[in-house]
Amino acid sequence: MDSGVEQLGLELLAQADRLAEFTEDPPRLTRTYLSAEHRAAGDYIASLMRAAGMHCGYDALGNLVGRYEGAHPDAPVVIIGSHMDSVRNAGRYDGLFGILSGIACVAELHRQRRRLPVAVEVVAFGDEEGVRFGVTLIGSKAMAGQFDPAWLAVRDAQGVSLAEALQAFGCDPQAWPGIDRRARPPLAYLESHIEQGPVLLNEGLPLGVVTAIAGAQRSIVTLAGLAGHAGTVPMGARQDALAAAAEMVLAIERIGNERSGLVATVGRLQVLPGAVNVIPQDVVFSIDVRSGLDSLRRAAIADIEAECDRIAARRRIALRREPLYLADAAPCHPLLQDCLAQAIAARGLAVRHLPSGAGHDAMVFPALAPSAMLFVRCGNGGISHHPDETLSAPDAGLATRVLLDALLRVPAAFGLSGAPA
Ligand SMILES: [Zn+2]
Repeated sequence: MDSGVEQLGLELLAQADRLAEFTEDPPRLTRTYLSAEHRAAGDYIASLMRAAGMHCGYDALGNLVGRYEGAHPDAPVVIIGSHMDSVRNAGRYDGLFGILSGIACVAELHRQRRRLPVAVEVVAFGDEEGVRFGVTLIGSKAMAGQFDPAWLAVRDAQGVSLAEALQAFGCDPQAWPGIDRRARPPLAYLESHIEQGPVLLNEGLPLGVVTAIAGAQRSIVTLAGLAGHAGTVPMGARQDALAAAAEMVLAIERIGNERSGLVATVGRLQVLPGAVNVIPQDVVFSIDVRSGLDSLRRAAIADIEAECDRIAARRRIALRREPLYLADAAPCHPLLQDCLAQAIAARGLAVRHLPSGAGHDAMVFPALAPSAMLFVRCGNGGISHHPDETLSAPDAGLATRVLLDALLRVPAAFGLSGAPA
């Protein structure tokens, strides 16, 4: 490991430590969209952007956009982005690392006085997690032309609407259409992010190339059996909705286990009447199935539904299904995956491709532009959305060097002529 990489990593981790001070409930880290801490963290990030030779400012939805001009005024744009909001009691690298590493790439170009055939914009999205208003990915959706103006009326727990919060932040809520990039889409979108899982850690690899951001399908299943006295109804005569649900939960786990590239979870289950001496009559439970391959997800869901129907029929239980949420997988662009893979291989590292099980800003961008993600290894068993989230300085530095190398490969990958000036 060359010492410059580790030194760069140490600088990035120090910046992340500084940003962790902008929190709504110290000593825990919580930074929600359009809060005073969002503003304070954004102003610190803006100072880093200016030091890296960028012009920057907040857009109409409170996203902080820094721009480093290309060799020509009309050069297309490559966006490097991630989010600066957090969950409650968060770790300090989720989202922030992608912003800081993007700025560090531009800082290196600026140090070399180097202009590319593309302009580089680093975007710190204001809302990805959706903690404050319950709407996720507001900033990236607005860029991709998917902003719903009805969101402006949504209120937070204190009764403040999104429009009011934007005004208090100094933004013009009605100016959101100006964020839409569809008329002049970027050449590419790149995002570096901690993995938020243990795959790279377990394989001893610092970096991975994301193949797709997993699609997710959620539904609610309602089972209706028959309540009865727990002491008087004989076992063979029962229609126990909870016993049926238990069989279904295990069938769903088995179907998830049997297929690689797929996860299936029952995360919520309610039992009625919920009394110790009454046979359960009604059960409501959730199913969450995710995969980077939509065909795999659909086939698993068909199997789950058929299996649940069989169990319900055998146990004389009525079953009703309601869809709750559906998002197809967002594939990462093959040419951009290649840019990242080549940059990783150039460092003498094995190239590991893996899907992302969590959602990211990068899942919105394929509708607008070719998109890709670089994953960086998490320590501590891969824990994330938690204060124990860790990232090592050598990994942080290495990821940033690889991100810059990949960025330099993007113009040629998309047939853009003109050697870097
Ligand atoms: Zn994130």
